[in-house]
Amino acid sequence: MSATNSKVIIVVGAGPAGMAVISTLAKAGHEVIVLNRDIKFGGLAEYGIFPAKLKLRGGLKKQYWELLQQPNVHYFGNVTIGNGKDLTVDDLRGLGANAIVFSSGAQGTKSIGVEGDSAQGVFHAKDVVFHFNRLPGYGDQPFEMGKHVGIIGVGDVMVDIARWLINYKKVERVTAIARRGPVERKYNPKEIRTVCSNMSLEGIAAEFVRIKDRLAAVGQNADDVQKGLTDEFTKCEPKVSDAKMGFRFLASPKRILVDAHNRVRGLELEENKLEPKGDDTAAVGLKQYYEFACDSVVFAVGDKVDATLGLPYKNGVFVTNPNKTGNDPDDALFQAYDEMTGQVIDGVFLAGWARKASEGLVGIAKRDGDWCAEIVSPYLAGKEPVNAKVVLDKLTTILKAHKSHPVGVKGLRVLESIEKQYQGETDCIGEFKYASNQEMIELIEKGTA
Ligand SMILES: Cc1cc2nc3c(=O)[nH]c(=O)nc-3n(C[C@H](O)[C@H](O)[C@H](O)COP(=O)(O)OP(=O)(O)OC[C@H]3O[C@@H](n4cnc5c(N)ncnc54)[C@H](O)[C@@H]3O)c2cc1C
Repeated sequence: MSATNSKVIIVVGAGPAGMAVISTLAKAGHEVIVLNRDIKFGGLAEYGIFPAKLKLRGGLKKQYWELLQQPNVHYFGNVTIGNGKDLTVDDLRGLGANAIVFSSGAQGTKSIGVEGDSAQGVFHAKDVVFHFNRLPGYGDQPFEMGKHVGIIGVGDVMVDIARWLINYKKVERVTAIARRGPVERKYNPKEIRTVCSNMSLEGIAAEFVRIKDRLAAVGQNADDVQKGLTDEFTKCEPKVSDAKMGFRFLASPKRILVDAHNRVRGLELEENKLEPKGDDTAAVGLKQYYEFACDSVVFAVGDKVDATLGLPYKNGVFVTNPNKTGNDPDDALFQAYDEMTGQVIDGVFLAGWARKASEGLVGIAKRDGDWCAEIVSPYLAGKEPVNAKVVLDKLTTILKAHKSHPVGVKGLRVLESIEKQYQGETDCIGEFKYASNQEMIELIEKGTA
């Protein structure tokens, strides 16, 4: 550790965006302290990306291991920033680092606020994804889905959840429900290959008959659109269950219907039509409502940031500097901003999904982290060096006082070697993982004692 000449940066969140920031700033010779809520690094690369995507996840993991083992990178897993958590934002600012980057992802839940959305059998996509990726707090919960699941949303996350439901949970039926039509579907055609063996072509044909007039009203030919949708069902992965998958288009959920035990029995959907909106279309409700039977509902409509983290927050995002600089990338977009004082929060930056919730794939989050580092670097150039050891000592004193259990790279190695011994021995998808923090901490503390 270069004790006196380095600049010290704290990065909150070790997902793809944070890792990109760490990579650039560590390469530039700065001391980087990484605080991560999860014991393991990787963010959604560890707990979001479908567990069977071993190649993608393995490649990222390898890169991240290398990065975190740099002598000027100091990793503290199992440390959460927030009010009432291991450290508050004020605690962090009091540590005396030169800059803090929040790359904590989009941890809040976006709700579409329909009646009954707290019923048993209503789930948020992120929680389901955390469950099958075995994130502590979710991995060991039951997630009873019933036989027929309605997923609200038609993006890649919907496909991942359908894949889990069909191949692992072995439900009977999955219906993806979309406010707009098939042309406006958002999933990547490559992703649909993971579930297209289970597509009900008859069901899809019937759905097109149901909506064809409404498509024609905006100049969309139902036959062509249907062909375009079903032509993507090529190179389908082998079928492992008899579950049937389909779509319900031009439908907005208005109410969750429940039984006497407050358990989901269906959805009240409103019929929509499409109206042109610039180059795009908008869904417009027709005030015609009907019941759609299902046993559970998953909202896969994107996420928002965590309002309780302690940074200025408005409408689902952390507030950034409204005074654009015109630079490319624009510094303002990455600077945290306090609307009460009308000032940028000096030295506090945002990157990745913490800056733009649910925006794109790993590559986009990485690029965002790269851009953020491009903005932080000149900021650091104007700052006096800080003694990294002093910052680290202050940090560990606070963590001790708060009875926190930070996990470093050495502890992660212990955990990894234990988990490797159990590969293939459980019902985990992809690779064996402990799903409880307590279990992991006990093993790590035993292994590093
Ligand atoms: C279901 C799903 C599937 C996906 N599949 C793919 C795919 O197949 N391919 C692909 O390229 N992309 C995929 N993505 C997108 C990709 O995962 C994201 O683009 C990327 O992970 C976002 O990176 P991030 O670093 O901004 O946030 P995240 O990955 O969310 O990382 C945030 C990090 O911050 C930490 N953190 C959170 N809150 C706090 C706090 N309060 N204090 C301290 N630390 C905190 C978390 O522990 C986490 O490590 C998927 C996303 C989802 C949701």
